Amino acid sequence: VTDWQGKHVTVAGLGVSGIPAAKVLRGLGAIVTVVNDGDDERSRTQAAELEAEGITVRLGDGATLPEGTELIVTTPGWKPDKPLFAAAAEAGIEVWGDVELAWRLRGPDAAPWLAVTGTNGKTTTVRMLASILQAAGLRTAAVGNIGVSLLDAVLGEETYDVLAVELSSYQLHWSPSVRAHSAVVLNLAPDHLDWHGSMEAYAKDKGRIYEGNQVACVYNAADKATEDLVREADVEEGCRAIGFTLGSPRPSELGVVDGILVDRAFVEDRQKQAQELAEVADVNPPAPHNVANALAAAALARAFGVEPAAVRDGLRDFRPDAHRIEHVADVEGVSYVDDSKATNPHAAQASLAAYESIVWIAGGLAKGASFDELVAASVKRLRGAVLIGKERHLVREALARHAPEVPVVDLDRTDTGAMSAAVEEAARLAAPGDTVLLAPACASMDMFVNYNKRGEAFADAVHALAAERGGDA
Ligand code: ADP
Repeated sequence: VTDWQGKHVTVAGLGVSGIPAAKVLRGLGAIVTVVNDGDDERSRTQAAELEAEGITVRLGDGATLPEGTELIVTTPGWKPDKPLFAAAAEAGIEVWGDVELAWRLRGPDAAPWLAVTGTNGKTTTVRMLASILQAAGLRTAAVGNIGVSLLDAVLGEETYDVLAVELSSYQLHWSPSVRAHSAVVLNLAPDHLDWHGSMEAYAKDKGRIYEGNQVACVYNAADKATEDLVREADVEEGCRAIGFTLGSPRPSELGVVDGILVDRAFVEDRQKQAQELAEVADVNPPAPHNVANALAAAALARAFGVEPAAVRDGLRDFRPDAHRIEHVADVEGVSYVDDSKATNPHAAQASLAAYESIVWIAGGLAKGASFDELVAASVKRLRGAVLIGKERHLVREALARHAPEVPVVDLDRTDTGAMSAAVEEAARLAAPGDTVLLAPACASMDMFVNYNKRGEAFADAVHALAAERGGDA
């Protein structure tokens, strides 16, 4: 679409992606109607703001397709089985997500996209990638669910050489024509299945990120499902499949040899078999799953032509975001670590694998996930467990099945004060040298507004404990 003047566009959903999309489309001359399920105080305020710009807003009715709709632009979170989309399909109307809209609105000289998806590690990898690209002197930004919004990156004043783009499975579902320069699926584990309907549908949506890739499809050599998605994708001629591994790399892979990140896929010097990029110690923190993220980021940067030295400098400059394996304090020889962002079992398993002797704080909303694999893989590392939150019984049952020896404190609480009780219980179970790890494997919304608040509650409780007993915090 190049001529938006007078085009009837329906935007599905107010909120962080709906509001800017509606404004941008209106600014282009489209006739915009926003439909929204909710009709509360907040949406009324938002509606008034949009109506002042000549946008029609229908509150309390997200199901009916407005008369004359030629295109739907949806909030990515809207489930594909909603009646609005059934009506659109019947009428032959296209549905785009916010990412598709940004893609279609980008200018002719727009920066190429290096795209990242996966069940876990997206934000970290995209930030590492942006840091590497910056170290290479490129004008870039980390965009998507983090930092700059895609619409701003595409339409704003700032010009970029390349964008590091985080894409969720929801966004990919609604992005039929997005074509990345290169892309990675970091890993695939069950998550958000209630939204996608099945693991197959979830994988298929993730796999869209490889469609039409120009230079490289990067996959996780330890996660065959990601490699399968590359094989199924329709890519541009000459586009290569590049693996990353924590082991020693085969040709066409990046990997680790004797504590060094090495690249065998993009070797400039034909005399050489491998190119050294950085040391494992350059990765912050150097936990195995995070080294995997660094290799994925390096692979995308190398596909874009970035020199090895910039990979090393970018990784050294990188600082992880809050609540992602964040060291809070040491109290009485015990280290307290906040990985509140571990909101599913696959993520929690990765963070548990980074420590030897752990008192684990877990529980919350399970989103339909199973904890068996996580617990079975972590038994040897568990000194004890403290459970909080609404669906903690699911974790308790998995512990009973696979780790009957591990002492478990089941705090029958979901109030916000439960976190400080949990930290005190964990302190009782822990011995010097242990790590108390908040890696809930669950969503936080039963007890907290979001994972940030959960992590803050943990940190507050740890600081209180340190003040009482004397620690470095
Ligand atoms: P996302 O943006 O995909 O949610 P983040 O980078 O914010 O990912 O990391 C979320 C959590 O997932 C981290 O706190 C950590 O527990 C876990 N994690 C990070 N990278 C990986 C990985 N490569 N494999 C498994 N788990 C990971």
